Amino acid sequence: MLTNNLGYPRIGSSRELKKASELYWSGKTPIENLLQTGKEIRANNWKLQQESGIDLIPSNDFSFYDQVLDLSLTVGAIPKRYHEVILNKANTELDLYFAMARGYQKDGIDITAMEMTKWFDTNYHYIVPEFYKDQTFKLFSQKIVNEYNEAKRLGIKTKPVIIGPVSYLLLGKEKQSGFHRIDLIRNLLPVYLEILRELENQHVEWVQFDEPFLVLDLTPKEKDAYTYVYKEIRKQFPKLKILLTTYFEGLKDNLELAASLPVTALHIDLVRAPEQLESILAAIPNHLQLSLGVVDGRNIWKNDFQQSLSQLNLAAEKIGESRILVSPSCSLIHAPCDLELETNDQTLTPEIKQWLAFARQKVDEIVYLKQLAGKTPSNHAITALQDNVAANQSRRTSKLIHHDAVKNRIAGVTEKDENRLNPFSKRRIAQHNALKLPLFPTTTIGSFPQTPEVRSWRAKFKKGSLTLAEYDALIEKETEETIRFQENTGIDVLVHGEFERNDMVEYFGEQLAGFVFTKNGWVQSYGSRCVKPPIIFGDVHRPAPMTVRWSSYAQSLTSKWVKGMLTGPVTILQWSFVRNDQPRSLTCKQIALAIRDEVCDLEKAGIKIIQIDEPAIREGLPLRQSDWQEYLKWAVQSFRISASGVRDETQIHTHMCYSEFNDIIQHIADMDADVITIECSRSQMELLDAFADFNYPNEIGPGVYDIHSPRVPSRDEMVLLLEKAKAVIPAGQLWVNPDCGLKTRHWDETKKALIEMVEAAKELRLSV
Ligand code: GLN
Ligand code: ZN
Repeated sequence: MLTNNLGYPRIGSSRELKKASELYWSGKTPIENLLQTGKEIRANNWKLQQESGIDLIPSNDFSFYDQVLDLSLTVGAIPKRYHEVILNKANTELDLYFAMARGYQKDGIDITAMEMTKWFDTNYHYIVPEFYKDQTFKLFSQKIVNEYNEAKRLGIKTKPVIIGPVSYLLLGKEKQSGFHRIDLIRNLLPVYLEILRELENQHVEWVQFDEPFLVLDLTPKEKDAYTYVYKEIRKQFPKLKILLTTYFEGLKDNLELAASLPVTALHIDLVRAPEQLESILAAIPNHLQLSLGVVDGRNIWKNDFQQSLSQLNLAAEKIGESRILVSPSCSLIHAPCDLELETNDQTLTPEIKQWLAFARQKVDEIVYLKQLAGKTPSNHAITALQDNVAANQSRRTSKLIHHDAVKNRIAGVTEKDENRLNPFSKRRIAQHNALKLPLFPTTTIGSFPQTPEVRSWRAKFKKGSLTLAEYDALIEKETEETIRFQENTGIDVLVHGEFERNDMVEYFGEQLAGFVFTKNGWVQSYGSRCVKPPIIFGDVHRPAPMTVRWSSYAQSLTSKWVKGMLTGPVTILQWSFVRNDQPRSLTCKQIALAIRDEVCDLEKAGIKIIQIDEPAIREGLPLRQSDWQEYLKWAVQSFRISASGVRDETQIHTHMCYSEFNDIIQHIADMDADVITIECSRSQMELLDAFADFNYPNEIGPGVYDIHSPRVPSRDEMVLLLEKAKAVIPAGQLWVNPDCGLKTRHWDETKKALIEMVEAAKELRLSV
């Protein structure tokens, strides 16, 4: 039995890479400093894994930005527009790489960045490869070989990791019509063979090919590509040990294909899809080794040794111990680095901490599991097992986690709780009478600029150099100015500006029971950007109102309506580390009830319009289409529970960022929000077609300008977009608003843009 790791976090346990990258980008430090930081992080990671006892230690899992971009550079998939960057001799390979990731603006040259998108269903984002018809590839960067040799010089033999050629092509996008990117496989494969030749010259033993697309729905052509590629590699490298990894889902109908590929070992995810173990054990040929992903690479919970051991023992019984590798379910880049850095007993109490394991601890778990699965485990390992059983037992019964009141309330939820009192057709009349809004009412999505000043107040308050009263007074002043600006501009439905919030999930998590926060639990989101997701550890409930104070304050300042602003249950769930001791759907319902309480309290406090943001609904979709219905059912149900406690005349809004709505429009409609605002301007209102074709019955605010750019849009272009919208959606259903919240914008551009937006709405009113 071998221990095997698929990838280790590369941000550095104190986010060293973020700091070094940003200093280099801003021109404050030379490239040598950044290179040195990268080298130290790699060395630390390798040594740590070697000392822990990992047999197959990954290399090339390090990246200065993103592993998919690394590969694009390696195989020379560099779009033409970046060739100018190479022409400047002062630029290094790394500068070219960053230009592709972040765009390039220097010496009169202005090149846009490559597109970025989500890595499967994680919160990690990768740089999307761009493909052209008949594109050829050539070995451009030696990163993979260099890193292997770098580790070798430290006395550590590693297993280079590379994204497999089929998954690499499928991760990209065609930038031209008339071909499918999988057609490029024959052009791409020779570069892989060249890399393998070089690695072989360096006496590499194992190479890990990541092929996560094997867990997705595949076309016959894509399946053929798998067979072609791995047969060809095997033919040319009969002795090379190939570990083919799959993760984030079960193999399901692709099992036969995966088992037929001529590789040395197949890795499967037993955290996401434990049920696949038996069928896989039965299906694999005698020569194939199996890497069992038993330690959760996507979450922060301590492994359940007893359960993992039963899986390992079952496998050992069926195929023999020597054919087994013990592994995390996927790369550990999705977990924070090191639990031991959490030293604040107040926020993360010892009771909760004993239930957790971050990347470093997960590496130890893998090693213990191998020892425990063997014939003669060390005393050390036996003690570790006892501790593990005790910790998991404490978690199953802890009073911190389990609240009868929450469980009883969930059990008592009925269909009535998921439905407003009357259908939209009736509510609409009640709302029009109560709110008396003009045609094309104007509003914003919630946040106004979070200036460095506003953030500095919060930092000072947290440090203790501002009292609560002083902090509140500053936020009140900022809120009042924002209300006055909106009144003066003639916006119809105002917002308070969300100045009191650090983040749209953290702000609620901090006030809900069942959540904890880490000091240093950072996970890479993209490039140098890291997030620190809250941990939902127990039954969720709302001990006290969360937003009523700020919404009421804002409403007290004005005779116009101020919209209450909440984050929805699915989004809170999606952007947190979630409990694994109950279904996600149940945790989501608990959050939904907590938000419902808040919605009802806002109504009681006189707030007439309440927005429940759900930007993460679409990204929560399962990887396999056959699982969509079940997810959508509970996601929509949760939203409805949160929104349905109010009277007819209280208007519920929801907001979603850029999404494809076509295939889920029925479910969006089922959410039954009175008004939905969506991101639309970059698609020139094309996203509205899904709503038009569906005859979407409720009201819609298609974003009329892009808030991701500082550019101030002209009144005319917004009028044009609204005309487009009006052509497909009845005027009486349309709202006018920006694409999303304004927190990342500056005040001057925000003011100018909103003044123009209000004028655009006025112009439209004249035209009907
Ligand atoms: N109300 C939030 C804001 O304006 C919505 C943000 C989002 O959808 N991501 O900031
Ligand atoms: Zn948004």
